[in-house]
Amino acid sequence: MVPIGGQTGLVDGTVFDEPHVAISTERLRSLTEPDVLNARIRVGAGLTIGEVHASCPNGWTFAVDFGARESATVGGAIATNAGGLRVMRHGTMRRNVVGVEAVLADGSIVDDMRGLDKDNTGYDITQLMAGSEGTLAIITAAQLKLVPAPKNLCTALLSFASRDDAISALPPLQARLPDIEVAELMLREGLDLVSTHLRRTNPLPPDGNAGLLIEVPGFPETLAAASEELPGLIDAAVASSLSDRRNLFAWRESHTEAIKAQGSSIKLDLSLPRSMIGSTLDAVDRLVAAEEGATAITYGHLGDSSLHVSILGVPDESAPHLESLVLELVAAVGGSLSAEHGIGRKRASQLSLRRSQTEISIMKAVKAGLDEHGLLNPGVIFSI
Ligand SMILES: Cc1cc2nc3c(=O)[nH]c(=O)nc-3n(C[C@H](O)[C@H](O)[C@H](O)COP(=O)(O)OP(=O)(O)OC[C@H]3O[C@@H](n4cnc5c(N)ncnc54)[C@H](O)[C@@H]3O)c2cc1C
Repeated sequence: MVPIGGQTGLVDGTVFDEPHVAISTERLRSLTEPDVLNARIRVGAGLTIGEVHASCPNGWTFAVDFGARESATVGGAIATNAGGLRVMRHGTMRRNVVGVEAVLADGSIVDDMRGLDKDNTGYDITQLMAGSEGTLAIITAAQLKLVPAPKNLCTALLSFASRDDAISALPPLQARLPDIEVAELMLREGLDLVSTHLRRTNPLPPDGNAGLLIEVPGFPETLAAASEELPGLIDAAVASSLSDRRNLFAWRESHTEAIKAQGSSIKLDLSLPRSMIGSTLDAVDRLVAAEEGATAITYGHLGDSSLHVSILGVPDESAPHLESLVLELVAAVGGSLSAEHGIGRKRASQLSLRRSQTEISIMKAVKAGLDEHGLLNPGVIFSI
């Protein structure tokens, strides 16, 4: 049985060559009146993240947001513990889901929709479902947390002379603006691709090599004061209207399509200790440079130290070797080979690069306890 949401997943969690029963949550579209007093919204697993946003009452919002919002479902986002643009301030789905209803492999229903912030009565079933990738149960509904919608968001693209300048700018900015919601890194090579794709001029000045898309509650003057004297800062474009804001976000969110338009690539979704980002990316660049004709396009959520690295121009026969070299490098510095997309079937054979045998045994024991015949999403997380 393969649970299917919006099928936006990037690690083959819903793609299965063997005969299987696909179970779609498309019709699980219940939506109750948002409960402002408790700051909760109860939704069917088949609603999209965009529909949840649109259902939030005035003054409130749902904090999880990412590019696939109009197709990705609540069930899929919980099952993959989706993160996205605002993780640095609000956490991933784990921090924003406070209850689930789910159907187990034997058909029994678990109703953990109580929704309390604190409830230390044994194991947390809702949290167990977050990131379980359809291997433990089919999520049918969820209780999600609402957060106050920020007022006067200031959105800006800060341009830096180098990637390292942009990376080093984040800690001082955060110290001065503790409420930063978004800090997305984009580099010249990626913005060049997006610029061709969108037919717009690259937003970086000629001497700029890295951009930080920042969004923070407050006014442009606050951001300007906080950015003063950041080493390597050479320009700042501040959105003065909703359409400006959309345009700035489009630079970041169009990376996926612009890269896809280049043909096949090695797609990596890495999480790194912040202190290791610069040196690890340098090492990745060296590995990529050794492969003739290959280019790495790096971008992503600097705010929570997770970055997407897409390597273009690598012949199919050498791609697995180069991918392994990069993943081993990331593991060696304490990073993760899956920051946010999960393991799926695509990365099941690489799980031990990040998790110890003891951890994998615990996960398998949980799986066997809830699904003794291995009916739910076989081959996902653990190779068959
Ligand atoms: C353009 C783009 C941008 C993205 N950006 C981000 C980002 O910034 N941050 C981030 O974290 N992720 C990002 N993602 C990944 C995204 O979070 C996931 O693809 C999405 O959350 C999965 O939701 P879905 O409904 O499409 O699930 P599907 O793709 O249908 O399924 C994904 C997995 O969840 C399981 N599943 C689905 N529904 C259920 C259910 N009801 N119960 C149990 N298991 C279920 C499936 O079996 C599968 O294993 C992005 C994806 C795209 C395409």
